[in-house]
Amino acid sequence: MHEFEIIDKYFNWQNTDIIVGVGDDCAIVALEPQQNLVSTTDTLISGVHFPENTKAANIAYKSLAVNLSDLAAMGATPKWFSLGLMLPEVDQNWLAEFSASLKLLADEFGITLIGGDTTKGNMSITIHALGVLPKNSGLLRSGAKVGDGIFVSNNLGDAALAWQLMQNKQTVPTALLNAFNRPTPQVKLGLALRDIATSCIDISDGLLADFGHIIKQSQVGARIYFDQLPLSPQVKNARDSCLSLAGGDDYQLCWTMPMSAQDTKQLAQYKVTKIGVITQEMGLKVIGTNTKNCQPYRHF
Ligand code: ADP
Ligand code: MG
Repeated sequence: MHEFEIIDKYFNWQNTDIIVGVGDDCAIVALEPQQNLVSTTDTLISGVHFPENTKAANIAYKSLAVNLSDLAAMGATPKWFSLGLMLPEVDQNWLAEFSASLKLLADEFGITLIGGDTTKGNMSITIHALGVLPKNSGLLRSGAKVGDGIFVSNNLGDAALAWQLMQNKQTVPTALLNAFNRPTPQVKLGLALRDIATSCIDISDGLLADFGHIIKQSQVGARIYFDQLPLSPQVKNARDSCLSLAGGDDYQLCWTMPMSAQDTKQLAQYKVTKIGVITQEMGLKVIGTNTKNCQPYRHF
């Protein structure tokens, strides 16, 4: 199958809300005058970011979900994405499954595929996602203030426990497998936080590493209380505090905001847990467990 036939059959979704989409040298999209463009890129490599035997549907889901998660962390609304696909061979079953799963998630979040590139090589998927923000808005890593509370969405460590069980060739409970393969992008929460949070990040490399970016860029310190971290029963039972602190692949949001903002109506529908406080004293202190033996989560 020729490259252009692949693109036409699997990635030309005929969207109507763009000026020029798949099929020309570039895509053209229209911008509203009162909005800023928000841009992010993530690459997933087979054998590095997902096990080689991962189903095409899950690869597609995660490739787009991790980019949506970055947009969520900025408080942005997803709009368009392009897809850089490197494949070792043309496998129509794989492509059909990949494309269907990608379209399902894209439709759910209202993001439109506007172009890409298709090449031969070791399997890797690069997605470049674009979103919009009203001018003068956006959740940065640099805004945390002394006295702010530190908060996270949902649970931490489920994906890391799934990965650990997979590597030990143990059975992985479905809930954990879902957390690993199909993290729900927290886009709606990001929008709700846009006018409330002082800083925000999505947790991809583990809470400690990612929150470290917030305190560094905000030039503050922090105390995090281990016994306040939201953990599933499985992660609690695993008794390995590194799973939730350094595990990675959570794709939950972690943000700071004034303590008083906890009761804001916009947040009522989300699972929000306060895990610590921003301090004047520099550095990140974890109270209640020893983090010395936690290996930082690294892709390479
Ligand atoms: P060019 O040679 O000008 O870069 P390509 O032959 O790479 O063009 O791509 C042709 C058209 O198909 C372009 O509009 C490009 O954006 C689109 N395209 C290529 N690969 C993909 C893909 N995997 N998903 C979506 N669109 C794609
Ligand atoms: Mg090209």
